[in-house]
Amino acid sequence: MTTPCFDPDDLDLSTRLIRAGQLRSQHMETSEAIYMNSGFVYATAEEAEAAFDGSKPRFVYSRVSNPTVKMFEDRLAAAEGAKVCHATASGMAAVYAAIMGQLKGNDRIVAASALFSSCRWILGDLLPRFGVSVEFVEGTDLAAWEAALKEPATVVLLETPTNPTMDIVDIASVAALAHKAGAKVIVDNVFATPLLQKPFALGADIVVYSATKHIDGQGRCLGGAILCNDQTWADETHGIFLRHTGPAMSAFNAWTLLKGLETLELRVQRSCATAHALAEYLETRSEIGRVLYPGLPSHPQHDLAMRQMSGCGGPMLGFTVNGGKDAVFRMMNRLRIVDISNNLGDARSLIAHPATSTHQSRPEAERLAIGITAELVRLSVGLESAKDLIADFAQALDA
Ligand SMILES: *Cc1c(COP(=O)(O)O)cnc(C)c1O
Repeated sequence: MTTPCFDPDDLDLSTRLIRAGQLRSQHMETSEAIYMNSGFVYATAEEAEAAFDGSKPRFVYSRVSNPTVKMFEDRLAAAEGAKVCHATASGMAAVYAAIMGQLKGNDRIVAASALFSSCRWILGDLLPRFGVSVEFVEGTDLAAWEAALKEPATVVLLETPTNPTMDIVDIASVAALAHKAGAKVIVDNVFATPLLQKPFALGADIVVYSATKHIDGQGRCLGGAILCNDQTWADETHGIFLRHTGPAMSAFNAWTLLKGLETLELRVQRSCATAHALAEYLETRSEIGRVLYPGLPSHPQHDLAMRQMSGCGGPMLGFTVNGGKDAVFRMMNRLRIVDISNNLGDARSLIAHPATSTHQSRPEAERLAIGITAELVRLSVGLESAKDLIADFAQALDA
């Protein structure tokens, strides 16, 4: 295999997303090859011995590593500006391994209360069974983080902007408090995408992605990734956890996601511009209560969002429809272009009612505490024209 003759660190992000990480075989293919194999062979028994004692690193088994998956890992690491990337079968596999790789019984976790609902289940329901104590804090309240982090902790987990309420958590301030408490900070960067927010520059120790979302960007496959900057620590924590528990990404999915990275910048820029236009339009409609879009001055943390997110509000937005669940359902059912789906980050614009879908399984009190009311909808803005999307909402609200 031949490796590229440039150092990705010298390249712009646009170039890294296309050029970083490619390993060409002896056939000199243009696009990356899909290595759809589980195992690898050795010319001699001595070669196998050297692979396993570490003296001759190479691919040994696709649960551990695979050439197509490695190309995806190296490209995403270059895009993020991280030293290490581990790909996983899904975003949840990434979040789970990032946490479990570091944790022992009786450890303490502090997390923002507004989390993707499966993350909330892991922290709130699963880990306490094993003696781990978890304290949830209101993610936008720095005094609450400070109080919770007066006691030592092992892990701090947050996502920003939050799903689906679009709150902005101040990564730099929380990371400073977390490090004083001895905790490692995991940032779920899905809503900001690798393009708009650089958590490592703000003090994060680990960045996790659901690659299922904007990295694929076309609703085709599941994937996840854990990024960090310390190879030895990664090997000893989530690296060894992944190797032995097996949530590996398939080579086919890695190839699909490599193609996604190549167009990520163009897609995210387009979706952000359309999301901004839609948010402004929705603010003009009397049927709409609040528009939750970090790019608008009406967002309570607009200034922080602009500092933390490359001056743009992102490809996701939330809004409330006056009249509760019935009014929301009427509007959703009338949309002709926008599809109803709990997925996000697709070329197709997708709308969801979190209270009855993504967050239905969470207790009502917990939902209301993080702002998931019956009136709230979440919109993932795709690549259709802004004009057509605005017209679709106009007719759905007019009727
Ligand atoms: C979708 C999502 C996840 C989980 O990713 P999967 O690929 O569905 O497992 C985690 N966090 C956030 C913020 C997400 O949107």
